Amino acid sequence: MRSHVPSYELVDARDLPHALSMVGEGFRPIAGGTDVMVLFEAGKLVHKKWISIRGIPELRSIDVDPGYVTLGALTTYTDVRRSAILAAEFPLMVQAAALTGGIATQNRGTIGGNIVNASPAADTPPALLVYDAEVELVCARTSRWVQYTHFHQDYKVMDLAGDELLTRIRLPRRFADWKHFYRKVGTRRAQAISKVCFAGLRRGDKIRIGLGSVGPIPIFLETTDLSAILPIDDVRSTARYRMQVAKNLMEEFLHVTA
Ligand SMILES: Cc1cc2nc3c(=O)[nH]c(=O)nc-3n(C[C@H](O)[C@H](O)[C@H](O)COP(=O)(O)OP(=O)(O)OC[C@H]3O[C@@H](n4cnc5c(N)ncnc54)[C@H](O)[C@@H]3O)c2cc1C
Repeated sequence: MRSHVPSYELVDARDLPHALSMVGEGFRPIAGGTDVMVLFEAGKLVHKKWISIRGIPELRSIDVDPGYVTLGALTTYTDVRRSAILAAEFPLMVQAAALTGGIATQNRGTIGGNIVNASPAADTPPALLVYDAEVELVCARTSRWVQYTHFHQDYKVMDLAGDELLTRIRLPRRFADWKHFYRKVGTRRAQAISKVCFAGLRRGDKIRIGLGSVGPIPIFLETTDLSAILPIDDVRSTARYRMQVAKNLMEEFLHVTA
């Protein structure tokens, strides 16, 4: 059942300091709204005070310097798909973006939103893990960079304070000469939520693997041992099927990157 519109408050952020001050007063950020509005439509959006950060231009950019490619949190899947530097050096980001939802979702949904929504089935986290991403978290007083491998702590629990915004994601430019592999297994080839999502990098005997939908948080591995994954039975699949798919994808990864 749809939510009762008048019981919600939605403010448009004028700029980043305004957004940070409102978040400090208990407002929650809404970016593309593609996750938030699903909850709203279903009558399950518990929090009532929201600040739209969508119009803050400095949060939507892809910047390149010698060390990093840095994405603003509001970078959309479409922005990612159109980026030549990401295609050249971080192709798994582009593949994840191309396999996320349909065109409308790709035009609106943001990478920052995908990270903070923290669905175990989200499609960019496995790619962000293998690329050793860092996320910038900012509040009104200070800012900090956190390794993405440490950001998710438990189901929907993150290293993110209530008064912080995720503002940027930076990818170190040291993986271009690795072999890159990405597979999303869902019910269909398009517009499907992942049953298992696998991102892999390999250079010689070094491997980096990111897995989605196989536990409460996205999993990062530097070995082929899958004993750390904890797939569950849910409406989309069974734990047994997920485990078998993860094993099959590992085999395929090792084969095509050999
Ligand atoms: C039809 C449809 C298909 C979809 N398909 C896929 C798919 O294939 N794969 C997939 O991974 N996802 C999919 N999604 C989910 C969704 O599109 C993504 O998770 C998207 O990236 C969310 O981004 P957003 O900007 O819309 O987030 P919002 O809905 O605006 O926000 C999501 C959450 O993140 C928080 N948040 C947003 N930005 C920030 C920020 N900068 N700092 C702090 N907190 C923030 C919000 O407070 C909220 O809790 C789909 C959604 C729909 C409706």
